Amino acid sequence: MSAKPLYIDEHPLFAERLRAIRLLYTDLDGTMLGIGGSLFIDSKRRPSLVAAEAIVSINSACLEVVICTGRNRIQAAEIARLCGWRGFIAELGCVVVPDRGAEPIYNTGVWAPDSLRAGETPFEAIDRVGALDALREAFPGKIENHTPYHTNREATHVLRGSLDINAARQVLGELDLQVEIVDNGVIHPIATTLVDVAEVHAYHLMPAGVSKSSAVALDLTRRGVDPAHAMASGDSVADVGIADSLALGVVMGNGLDDASVAEAILARENVALTRGHRSEGWAEMAISWLDAISHE
Ligand SMILES: [Mg+2]
Repeated sequence: MSAKPLYIDEHPLFAERLRAIRLLYTDLDGTMLGIGGSLFIDSKRRPSLVAAEAIVSINSACLEVVICTGRNRIQAAEIARLCGWRGFIAELGCVVVPDRGAEPIYNTGVWAPDSLRAGETPFEAIDRVGALDALREAFPGKIENHTPYHTNREATHVLRGSLDINAARQVLGELDLQVEIVDNGVIHPIATTLVDVAEVHAYHLMPAGVSKSSAVALDLTRRGVDPAHAMASGDSVADVGIADSLALGVVMGNGLDDASVAEAILARENVALTRGHRSEGWAEMAISWLDAISHE
């Protein structure tokens, strides 16, 4: 194992694995998209066609791409449609959609199969068992919905505020369903109703035991695709973890801004890094992929 992550063109294993890949699971923000979530802006804020051209090349080669994002189903469906793709995974792995317009499959992690009531979404179940009320009661003035991003969700709640995460886990541990809280880092909302909070964090509430990785594994089984024919691209630790059930993982250069991502890459031999950041890294991956396939 090397002491620093290897670039996608630096190890023969990567090209060898790429040759067999026919299906890509890709993250959007910080991965396929440029700054500000635009497909037409690169990592240096310049207007660019680099990612769009990569999408056209991948589609022309009849290779399949499945979006795997934290965004909600409505957003993911529209982005998939714009790109000419079909199935996708939304809300951090909680919502698996086999095809655009198809009924979603809820990935509810450790929850028992009968945890959801008839017609209920995991989002509603988290509310039903009192997760939000319990947090508001335990941390008055310190937690609230992350408006406007908390709407149109089916599985995960997006909150903002400042919590002692271990104390919050204890509060959630008292509930009838196992609900996990994930700290998504510091944010800078324009306005809040929080009281005496110096640093605001975004938090996700989700069914315990769900990951992008488990959603991809579920989707792969559902498709009947051999993991040797699939890879994942991303920029976070959660994205790197997907590679454990696939042939290859590709991390965008900007992923290294988070030290834990470098650590996660080094712990695996099947994860490569791109030199480019964000959309430029994604295009670099696409070029390596198409190049490997053409030499098959
Ligand atoms: Mg990302």
